[in-house]
Amino acid sequence: MATAVKHEASCIFCKIIKGEIPSFKLIETTHSYSFLDIQPTSKGHLLVIPKYHGAKLHNLPDEYLHDILPIVKKLTIASGLAIDGSEGIGYNILQNNGRIAHQEVDHVHFHLIPKRDEKTGLIVGWPSENADMSELSEYAKELVSKLN
Ligand code: AMP
Ligand code: ZN
Repeated sequence: MATAVKHEASCIFCKIIKGEIPSFKLIETTHSYSFLDIQPTSKGHLLVIPKYHGAKLHNLPDEYLHDILPIVKKLTIASGLAIDGSEGIGYNILQNNGRIAHQEVDHVHFHLIPKRDEKTGLIVGWPSENADMSELSEYAKELVSKLN
């Protein structure tokens, strides 16, 4: 069953969807809207958003999520980023949830960020260590037991 489109009057991205503030629109569908980021971290940095006001990914009805990734794919191809092989230009798809996770706008958005060089585009900090395999195994069991 279709879910009602929901807007939040004070939300900057809801205002963009409604045309109340301008944007450089790229693709619009019944469920999604995409536009250029006005503070790009690399040339061609763009955003794809659901036409549904949810702050975080888990707030979205699945029908909105279903619409988004094919749009990201189309925009990736149109942006000249669909290059096979691991060398050369790459791209990151980024979706932040919560201030601690670097989310500034509380309306779900997927960034498409071209990565052409070391200095522009996404720069990732990724602290990691080798996992204890028995702890991993326990955690996997715990998580799977919560899925249904
Ligand atoms: P995040 O940190 O994941 O919440 O990213 C929010 C993004 O929205 C940033 O990259 C901003 O540059 C971008 N942004 C904020 N306001 C606008 C706007 N009016 N038009 C286009 N992009 C925007
Ligand atoms: Zn919104």
